[in-house]
Amino acid sequence: MNIDEITSYCRRRGLVFPTAEIYGNYSGFYDYGPVGVEISNNIKNLWWKTFVQSREDVTGINGSIITHPKVWEASGHIASFTDPLTECAKCHKRWRADHVISDALKKPIEGLKIEELTKLIQKNNIKCPDCKGALGVVQNFNQMFTTNVGAVEANTAYLRPETAQSIFVNYKPVMDSTRMKPPFGIAQIGKAFRNEISPRNFLFRLREFEQMEIEYFIQKKQLSECAYFDEFKDLKVNVLSEKEQHKGITTNSIMTISKALKEGVFNSEWHAYWTAIFYKWYLNLGVNPENLRVRQHVKEELSHYSAGTVDIEYNYPMGWKELQGVADRTTYDLTQHELFSKEKLEYFDEETRKKEILYVAAEPSVSVERIFLTLLFEGLKEEKERTVLKIHPLLAPYKIGIFPLVNKDALPVKAREVFKELSAEYNCFYDDSGSIGRRYRRQDEIGTPYCITIDFDTIKDNAATLRDRDTMKQERVKIKDLKEIIRKKLIQ
Ligand code: ATP
Repeated sequence: MNIDEITSYCRRRGLVFPTAEIYGNYSGFYDYGPVGVEISNNIKNLWWKTFVQSREDVTGINGSIITHPKVWEASGHIASFTDPLTECAKCHKRWRADHVISDALKKPIEGLKIEELTKLIQKNNIKCPDCKGALGVVQNFNQMFTTNVGAVEANTAYLRPETAQSIFVNYKPVMDSTRMKPPFGIAQIGKAFRNEISPRNFLFRLREFEQMEIEYFIQKKQLSECAYFDEFKDLKVNVLSEKEQHKGITTNSIMTISKALKEGVFNSEWHAYWTAIFYKWYLNLGVNPENLRVRQHVKEELSHYSAGTVDIEYNYPMGWKELQGVADRTTYDLTQHELFSKEKLEYFDEETRKKEILYVAAEPSVSVERIFLTLLFEGLKEEKERTVLKIHPLLAPYKIGIFPLVNKDALPVKAREVFKELSAEYNCFYDDSGSIGRRYRRQDEIGTPYCITIDFDTIKDNAATLRDRDTMKQERVKIKDLKEIIRKKLIQ
């Protein structure tokens, strides 16, 4: 399905709506509907369970969206968090210069300076995509949204463009209160805001989105001491290295994580490990291995804080694009905050009696929305007689649809009894309207993995029909066993 089909499906079935649609188009902002909010919560909960609660070495925080403005001075975002902007001289529409050039030349444009982008526009005579007017000199445009705090207008503050900084500024109280020792990570899920010049591709490029990030701190001497590396060293991944990109190669090579590390795709074992564990997670969630790759950033496109970044990219209908980034942020952020706040942020090693600024060997960073969109591209299928969302059962908005065969006699009472029992544990959907076939189709379309039909025999034998979304097979099961059967299916 293409992006327009996905967008209209999301609107029709209550996953995602353009924000405040009654007032017209407001680019870059979307609202989750009843089905979408469940999927988004499930993504966040599974991420938190997998990467925070199930690990001894990661703990979580939830920072404020507006924080002290000094944070953004120290982090370098006020000076450097910019995108290249070009304006049409005729219609005055503003465009993201690298995107307009890349669309016109039909090749990726990464990491060029604004002067180089201006030259490319002029040399290739690239015009405004809307009105064919002349495009102006490329300038830097800061992506941070500003606001004022308190009754004084000059008190400029910023909506955070990444959740990461809340982690860095809370690093000390987290260490003090948990007594964690490196290597360890601090995770956070929360809203981030970027004033994207031209938001597009539905949920892919938004102005408000939710990030899920981990900052993983180590001592510099631990760079090659990743205790979990062996678990993933033989994982085969598609790779597009910096070297290959410099040669103009755009096809992926398949290699193991350890080979990619040897070839310099990753900065350290930790960097490789944190990429591998997420790559594997996406495969486990049902992403087709052919649609996933690790692309190493070329030097020129690295963010101001990064000593090396790889993106886990997905092959979207609009091409290979970043699903998740994994950056080696070095000691950059803690050093900057120490400098600007004049507070000591060093770690004291009791063994060596030495102090040092901890090193962020990996920052896995992804938005809920890019995962959401990726899972829709992977899972939404038009089959002969139905539309079905083959989303992983753990992420499905409803786990079970519960239907009385007909809405009379003892059936609705029994069906509601089953609903009450099962909904204590799983999100269930009760539906008593239309034919059973229609009800199955409706649940297929929003990805409900199991449906239970209560019929006249149920009243006698306390059994019901359990139907599987993917195989469409039906089996007769005892109502008292349902909870256990579903639990086993969900953890398969
Ligand atoms: P891009 O190159 O696509 O603009 P980026 O390199 O600016 O992305 P990062 O700063 O690495 O993105 O952000 C980390 C993650 O946050 C991304 O991998 C992506 O999942 C998510 N993300 C970033 N910008 C947006 C956005 N505008 N809308 C939705 N998700 C986003």
